[in-house]
Amino acid sequence: MSTTPFYGSDYDELAAFDPDIAGVLLSELERLRGGLQLIASENMSSPAVLTALGSTLSNKYAEGYPGRRYYGGCSEVDKAENLAIERCKDLFDADHANVQPHSGASANQAVYGAFLSPGDTILGMALPMGGHLTHGTKVSFSGKWFNAVHYGVDKRSEDIDYDQVAELAREHKPKVILAGGSAIPRLIDFEFFRNLADEIGAIFWVDAAHFIGLVAGKAIPSPVPYADVVTFTTHKVLRGPRSGALVCKAEHAAKLDKAVFPMMQGGPQMHTIAAKAVNFKECATPEYAAYVNAVIANAQALAAGLDAHGIRPTTGGTDTHLSLHDLQAVGVTGADAEARADAAGIVLNKNAIPFDPAKPNVASGIRVGTPSVTTQGMGPEQMKTIADLIATAVTKGDADPDNAVSKEVRAQVHELVGQFPAYPR
Ligand SMILES: *Cc1c(COP(=O)(O)O)cnc(C)c1O
Repeated sequence: MSTTPFYGSDYDELAAFDPDIAGVLLSELERLRGGLQLIASENMSSPAVLTALGSTLSNKYAEGYPGRRYYGGCSEVDKAENLAIERCKDLFDADHANVQPHSGASANQAVYGAFLSPGDTILGMALPMGGHLTHGTKVSFSGKWFNAVHYGVDKRSEDIDYDQVAELAREHKPKVILAGGSAIPRLIDFEFFRNLADEIGAIFWVDAAHFIGLVAGKAIPSPVPYADVVTFTTHKVLRGPRSGALVCKAEHAAKLDKAVFPMMQGGPQMHTIAAKAVNFKECATPEYAAYVNAVIANAQALAAGLDAHGIRPTTGGTDTHLSLHDLQAVGVTGADAEARADAAGIVLNKNAIPFDPAKPNVASGIRVGTPSVTTQGMGPEQMKTIADLIATAVTKGDADPDNAVSKEVRAQVHELVGQFPAYPR
């Protein structure tokens, strides 16, 4: 008899019972393999992570924390959560970790719940300048229930306007100051934010959803020594399961644990927590450190390659895994660029650039990231090729996949991804 400890991988059985969904699983894998994945917030997690996700731990109710559960039968999932917590604390040299948030947005909710009451003021980065929906935009609970004040970037450097941050902090006296976002290509001066927070008596929160993987691989400075709390996703550069987590100073541990559960969430997803533990173990290896250094080298090569085609990177380049590009000089909108690239087998997203004159659903820029292509084993030489392919598709191509340019670029994309397959068999 087989001793396989999990049952999630029996594709044939699923296909016999539900060919519709089995077909989606297969065609999504083919889609991943068949194109260039340049969405900066995506990556390709390991088979080990996917195995933990597909396990029977999905069945277990475990409200509470290890050793303090509201249900029986938690002896085994307690081991998984304790491993995830210990590995997370070690990885980031943190006092305390909570690995239960279901996502980046859920981890952020916990910070609001722990430190703020409705109507309180928070200072964060504006969404069109690189921030995130959960940082106080009007369509989010964060902007509906809290008074959000926003800083942006400096017009000339296109990097965070630190003078404006200080001015707004002194004027509005926010309870929480937030650094981090979804389209910030440069390193953040955490020491500046810490000193400012101390000056006005605010909590300093870093939303590291995008760049935490670069911190885990020790390629960029860590916010953990400076921030009261650091929230993050586990599926971006970090390359774990789709989920979230937070680390914080010891003094805030009890408050944040209560805010995650029971204030914001119900039962934790134990299969995902097991997968996070696997991922944290992967992140502590020399291979992962080499990976994140390659991610940054590739992002710099890709940004320079696009720049050579007149597709300028904002801030002049990148220190991280992503770059933001201004398409105004080549006379193409972000929306058209996204559609043309897609028709050519290149998946990227339109993005507002700082002080964008276009509407958000059109935008004047694109955002590209290298976590996925680096996981596939590509290097700077391939980044130059990718930059050439993007430039051709965006400036000469068409949103119609049957257009000659779309077809030609797609053929070259297929050749490239054939040499660096995603999830090789
Ligand atoms: C991706 C992201 C989030 C949200 O993560 P989800 O897992 O999609 O909820 C929050 N903050 C920032 C800065 C992000 O980039």
